[in-house]
Amino acid sequence: MSETHVHKETNCLGCRLANSELPVHMVYENEWVACFLDHDPFNEGHVLLLPKQHFRFIDEMDEATAFAILQASQLMSRTIRERYDPFGITQTQNGGGPDELTHFHLHIVPRKQHQPFAGFYSEESWDNEALKQGLADTRTHLAEAVEAQLSVFPGKSHTGGHYGKTNR
Ligand SMILES: [Zn+2]
Repeated sequence: MSETHVHKETNCLGCRLANSELPVHMVYENEWVACFLDHDPFNEGHVLLLPKQHFRFIDEMDEATAFAILQASQLMSRTIRERYDPFGITQTQNGGGPDELTHFHLHIVPRKQHQPFAGFYSEESWDNEALKQGLADTRTHLAEAVEAQLSVFPGKSHTGGHYGKTNR
């Protein structure tokens, strides 16, 4: 798919992030989707998975994009499980208001025991300064872990893709 066929909304922040028009810590991307670190992580390895084309809701997606989202979420779950051995992995998206991004984004969050299922939606802030400072390192390690998973991932023929080449 050439860039000219990708439907993007010029003013959509999600479109710009997913297509690396703004700096992100990319850990995985392919023709359809981009997966990068949440800039305000709940735990190390908290990522966002976005379609590269502009879709706000999952029910608007074409079949290839919907499949790519699910497949990439599988890849990321395996990677996170392998790397962090979490108690659980929350995967959630909003499907409506409040939705500041107005572009579909799936949160994938490794969770420690006793952490609430969707604690990162809480109004309460949490201390993640160290995590924020470490985003570049996290990105490096997670991208390497994705590469390792891709070599054994059953969907790799469809998934293809690569981790971000640049450290942003
Ligand atoms: Zn968009």
